[in-house]
Amino acid sequence: MEIRDKILIVEDERSISGFMSAVLTANGYDVLLAHTGADAYTLVTSHCPALVLLDLGLPDIDGMSLISAIREWTQMPIIVVSARTHERDKVEALDLGADDYITKPFGTSELLARIRTAIRHTRAPATGTGSAGQGVYRCGDLTLDYERHRVLVRGQDVHLTQNEYRIVAMLTRCAGRVLTYDYMLQELWGPTARGNNQILRVNMANIRRKIEENPAEPRYIFTEVGVGYRMADGD
Ligand code: CA
Repeated sequence: MEIRDKILIVEDERSISGFMSAVLTANGYDVLLAHTGADAYTLVTSHCPALVLLDLGLPDIDGMSLISAIREWTQMPIIVVSARTHERDKVEALDLGADDYITKPFGTSELLARIRTAIRHTRAPATGTGSAGQGVYRCGDLTLDYERHRVLVRGQDVHLTQNEYRIVAMLTRCAGRVLTYDYMLQELWGPTARGNNQILRVNMANIRRKIEENPAEPRYIFTEVGVGYRMADGD
């Protein structure tokens, strides 16, 4: 018997929830619907869905508080789907523990791709080894070999500094997801580095010069302006 992943759609606008529900059902998912934050919380705890798609503007509570409430006891993936385009909202949602953030209006293929990525991450081993669990991340001409600490572009070694390597490795392990500046700074340099985006920007400029064919139009590491960085999904 085929096991279908269950996805909870939290959305008070029925036209949008109906549309998302149709898209997800057509693509092999089981769908649960909640139109309020209270219903959503009940369904999360009773059904333990594989993933939550969360609107922020709900009639009873703000979606942000639902992220915190869910994160108190589970790491189930949460993708915020919101009309709020402000960077501050994206950063807040991601820092509260959302896995990803999609702004309305969105394309269905983008929605499905982000869902696949988020679910795959929860299935990956805790040590997270990139594509196919081989200890290697591959995307186009770029290869990262975690065991040997090597980064290759078209088979040629790229010489990264220790910090540059740590940044690339962190991003590839979370490929497809946005990592916020604060999260990266904290992981790389500890709590005192928070807010010092300059150090990250300088390192990123050097990384792009080394791995991207055209650093102005990156293929591997994308900037989410004001929010953070996202590594392209591995092959
Ligand atoms: Ca809404």
